[in-house]
Parts: sequence; C-alpha cells; structure tokens
Amino acid sequence: MSITRRGFIESAVVASLATSLNAADSNAQDTPKSDSRPAKRPILISAHNGFNYLDDAFAYLKSGGDTLDSAIRVVKGPENDPNDTSVGLGGLPNEEGVVELDACCMHGPTRRAGSVGAVRNIKNVSMVAQAVMQHTGHVMLVGEGAERFAVAVGFPRENLLTDRSRKIWLLWKENHSNEDWWGPGIADPNWKPPRTSPEAKPQADLWQDRILQLHARAAALGIEPEFRMAAVRRVLFPPTGTIHCSALNDKGEISGVTTTSGLAFKLPGRCGDSPIIGAGCYTDQDIGSAGATGSGEENIKVAGAHTIVENMRRGMSPHEAGIDALKRIVRNYNGDMTRLKFVDMTYYILRKDGAYAGVSLWQGYTKDTPHKIAVHDGTRRAEVTTPLFQGYSEEFPRVPDVPPDLAKDSVYLK
Ligand code: ASP
Repeated sequence: MSITRRGFIESAVVASLATSLNAADSNAQDTPKSDSRPAKRPILISAHNGFNYLDDAFAYLKSGGDTLDSAIRVVKGPENDPNDTSVGLGGLPNEEGVVELDACCMHGPTRRAGSVGAVRNIKNVSMVAQAVMQHTGHVMLVGEGAERFAVAVGFPRENLLTDRSRKIWLLWKENHSNEDWWGPGIADPNWKPPRTSPEAKPQADLWQDRILQLHARAAALGIEPEFRMAAVRRVLFPPTGTIHCSALNDKGEISGVTTTSGLAFKLPGRCGDSPIIGAGCYTDQDIGSAGATGSGEENIKVAGAHTIVENMRRGMSPHEAGIDALKRIVRNYNGDMTRLKFVDMTYYILRKDGAYAGVSLWQGYTKDTPHKIAVHDGTRRAEVTTPLFQGYSEEFPRVPDVPPDLAKDSVYLK
C-alpha cells in the first residue's frame, strides 16, 4: 500500500475544505446507527485495536466481573503485544529511544480515578494507573516516581523497546538531520553529498529520492522486508496510537481506561491527553463514560472526554455530545481547514443506559483505513465512526506515491 495520502484525498475533502463548518454541521446531523439502536447492557466499547480482546473481557463482565477490570482486560491485550507499536511493549519510543507510557482510568461505582504519565520500563501502565487509584491517596504519578511506585506494588521492570521499534527509531534518528553524526559517514561507500540546491529537482522527485534512501537504510538496519515501508512511513510521519475502553455492566455500573505510548519520537517527558483525567478518559457513574484517541494536544485543550460526559448530562445523545466536542477543536482553529486537515481525533462514548457512539473529526487516514470502534454487547463487531468532516486527515508534508515495487508486499501498519 502506498504511504502517501495524496492518492486518497477525495473530492469530498476539497468540498469540505471550501465549506468548512457548514459542511461539518450538515454531515453531523445524520443520525448514526448506534444512536438509533436500542441500548443494551452489559456492553464494552473500545478503540479498534481492542477488537481481539473483547470476547474474553465481555465474558468476564457478564459473569459479574468489575467494570474497570473488564475494560483493563481489553487494553492489556495491545499493551502486551510487541507488534502493536502504539502502546505498552513495543510502543514507539521518544526522541532518545526510550519508551514512555501514559494511562488513566476511572472507576464509576466508587467514583475514583488513577493516572500515570511518562512511565518507563513498565508494560501494563493501565494497571499501574488502577494501582495508583487503589493503593495511594493520590490520583496522578509521573516519571521516575511512578516507575518506582509500580515496582513497589509488584510490577516487573522490563525493556519495552523491541528490536523492531528500536530499528525504526534508529532509522528516524538517521533521517532526522544530515548535519549530525547519526547515519553513514563520508567514508561509507553509499554516502551521498548533502543536497546543495533543492530547486535543482522538483519537490516530488526529492521525496521519491528520500523514500528510496530511507528504504535502503531500513534494509541496511535489518528491518524485515515486509515492514520496511511501514518503518519509512513512521519515520516520515511519526504516528500516534492509543487504546481506550469503556465498560458498562447490567447493573449500570460504568468505568473507563485509556493507555498509550503517545506520539512517536516525542520529547522526553511529553504527556498527551491519555493520562489526563477529563481529556483522554472521563467517567461519571451518574451519566456515562468517554475516551479519546488522536491528536492529544488538541484534545487536552477541549477537555474532550469531560466535555462529552457533561454534554450528555445536559441531555445530548452520545453522538451529539461527541460531535460538539469535535466542533470545539474546530473552533480552536477558527475553522481553518488548512490546519485542521492535519489534526485527527476519535471519541468513544458510552451512556449509562448502554447507548453509545463513535465519532471522529475525519473519516479515517485513508479510504481503506476508516476510523472504527469495536463494540461487544453480546455480539462483537467493528463499526465505522461518524465523521464530522467528509474526507481523510492528511500527513504533513505531503509526499508523492511510493514506487510500486517498494509498495508491493509491504505491511501497512497504521
Ligand atoms: N492521544 C494520544 C497522545 O496524544 C495518541 C493517540 O491517541 O494516538 O498521546
């Protein structure tokens, strides 16, 4: 699959760029399937990367398991999976090559919360956030203190940087600048002089060159052939990645949890929205629960999950509540679509009666990778989210298509 978005930008995007908020309004007024379904409980809703773990968690929830424990059963799956580069073990590291994880949780029945930020060497930070809630009088611990706390309550320290994530980071490091000592030096047979005149070649050709060079370096670093294009993609467009899950049992008890490795190659110490109670996750036993994945900095500024729960308190449906939060992000940019096309956000929303919605700023990353939520209410399924804008978020800067012989057989990991 091609790594560029250009080929995927549909005419619908162009239309939405032109009509901005009006287009958003009319699109969002369609009643989504999920709002018109009869509400059912128990129910779990999660980010799509939780799909494979819903069966086990649903059986546990249905048999009387605690709502937060059930939600953690879902998010622990990707946390433990070395091939999921968005959370836990194998998460993409910060700019120094160190994996730093964030998580928070809220337990509706006891109205408690726990959170950890920028934690190193501990894989299951969702459970560490729960342990902060259960074993301390605090709500949030960060950095070294959070790691020491985790070890004190029994979590093992382990190296979270898998070989594949380390090589992708190394590729990013080498690509970062041709004015440092990372990457092949002038004695290397493959060394190429720095480009002197960017004007000498069209921009598209320069990008093609860069992709080809990165692909060759990925091979030299030992990245498996099928992951090379995915590695190049991550280097050019550092991804975000997260999982949220909210759980509601038949008694109406509700909880939520969000966990992440955040933004790839971030500054050490950067915390996104995921550990922020009220942004990455918020649960109120009287109303419902919401969580977020996507551009963390934008979500913090609108306190997304809290905004959604408060909207539902004032009578909005889960869908309306989520769309309103997305519009606040749009408002923060005065509807400037030249900026908003590089932002994306998905909200997972569950009301106390079992009504739910998945909404997102854009339809997805590409036509082939629409945003989805995973749901289990007795039937496990994935549902496409309702977007505020028709079209696909873009990567910055844009690049031309990948040469077909490189694109073929490559695994696209977004
Ligand atoms: N929201 C997360 C963060 O900014 C990343 C993501 O959801 O993809 O850290």
